[in-house]
Amino acid sequence: MLEVNGIANGIVLDHMKAGLGLVVFNKLVDGKIDHPVVLLMNVSSQAMGKKDIIKIENTFDVDLNILGLIDENITVNIIKDGKLFEKQEVVIPKKLKGYIKCKNPRCISHFDNYVEPEFTLYSKDSLEYLCSFCDEITKYE
Ligand SMILES: [Zn+2]
Repeated sequence: MLEVNGIANGIVLDHMKAGLGLVVFNKLVDGKIDHPVVLLMNVSSQAMGKKDIIKIENTFDVDLNILGLIDENITVNIIKDGKLFEKQEVVIPKKLKGYIKCKNPRCISHFDNYVEPEFTLYSKDSLEYLCSFCDEITKYE
């Protein structure tokens, strides 16, 4: 097995399906933090066959909404002094603000910068959200 040093203080995102590591990296990490980051891809896993892992040295506020939208099975482990300090739960967010834009071109949220639509989860399986202004259904992609 590939050996990568553990981190003393930071975050380990585990149990990502193989291939999702890069998606999470692009959405969550790239350009947003400048701490050392390790992306492990196609790591053998008894439960999953292959999985991806991301280790981030140094703590920062993990955007659990983004993780939930990518895959709610991702495990977020907060490491302090080399030990597991806390596990954070990843869930598909029931409300969303700012992560998606309403797909209705006539929706007021496209014309007025001061109104930010709030989206309510409509379908968990397809990640579809209902706009608070126009009731249009928009899919998170
Ligand atoms: Zn709308």
